[in-house]
Amino acid sequence: MCRFLNLRGKSFMLLFSMRKVVIIGSGCAGWTAALYTARANLKPLVLMGGQPGGLLTTTSIVENFPGFPEGVDGYELMMRMQKQAERFGAETSFGTLEKADFSKKPFELTVDGEIVNAETVIIATGASHKHLGVPGEEKLETRGVTYCATCDGALPLFRNKPLVVVGGGDSACEEALYLTRFGSEIFLVHRRDSLRASRIMAERVHSHKTIKPVWDSAVTEILGTDKDTVTGVLLKNVKTGAESVLDCAGVFIAIGHVPNTSIFKGQIALDANGFVLRKEGSMTNVPGVFVAGDCSDHVYRQAVTAAGMGCAAAIDAERFLAAKNE
Ligand code: NAP
Repeated sequence: MCRFLNLRGKSFMLLFSMRKVVIIGSGCAGWTAALYTARANLKPLVLMGGQPGGLLTTTSIVENFPGFPEGVDGYELMMRMQKQAERFGAETSFGTLEKADFSKKPFELTVDGEIVNAETVIIATGASHKHLGVPGEEKLETRGVTYCATCDGALPLFRNKPLVVVGGGDSACEEALYLTRFGSEIFLVHRRDSLRASRIMAERVHSHKTIKPVWDSAVTEILGTDKDTVTGVLLKNVKTGAESVLDCAGVFIAIGHVPNTSIFKGQIALDANGFVLRKEGSMTNVPGVFVAGDCSDHVYRQAVTAAGMGCAAAIDAERFLAAKNE
């Protein structure tokens, strides 16, 4: 069930009219861009997309967003951002973007079969979980293979069972720590012998007696029963080449993200990994199309940097519109 606010009951509103600003995406970047453009009286339309609130809604406590000394639930933070943007006149649509045509002026967006015209667009489509691409992964997804411990960790399937987390970054550490509430042992399988995660997260993982790192190891296959539940992973030691089976009831994959930009291919300049290329500030190669957040950032990828980029994109869009109308 979507818990996102639709304060004015306007899921479909005003899609047909000409918009000064359309923001594609409703994560930290999108809502911040909405807040700033709304306060500039530009009445932005936010297309919330397939994952309202973005990736932060799949996390538990966010401890590094300034202003929340006790931490804040990811879902709650995003709902607060939405409420704040809507208070100043941002409008939201649960519609899904099907096509963007930036060769037309005004820009033409197809949303659930309807055309939305926009003078400026802010792309804030975020990123999605990266997949391992090994045998068994796709077949066993939702049957023991998952990309979100906070979403799935409490399922009976995983209770008091050995679980595997794959990855060595902050996400993997966060997943492993969260899963200590449910699993009997948490095996953190990483392809190197040291974590990429921030020191504070790495220290928490190293000092937790339920978490057992498995170094220098790659998951080469996810094993399951005929009934399609996970029974283990096939591991290969990347230094020795030795193979072994590690029994587990669940595999939590936390190996990074891919930008959600495939819909813009051929419309906007992307780098080799699909991240939107920025020229100056938040500008893309198409005048009037701006970008913010994880879909254009493979370096910082923090909630607060995404929010900052959303603010910058809003200011750039506002200045673009002001210059156009001079
Ligand atoms: P990340 O930092 O890119 O880490 C990805 C991890 O997965 C790395 O350890 C990488 O190994 C491994 N990996 C990548 N591809 C792999 C593959 N095909 N097979 C096996 N392992 C693979 O991603 P992240 O952990 O999602 O973090 C993303 C950003 O969000 C970071 O900036 C992070 O600081 C931030 N974040 C912060 C928090 C927090 O502060 N609480 C929580 C979550 C995320 P290598 O190390 O060998 O490259």
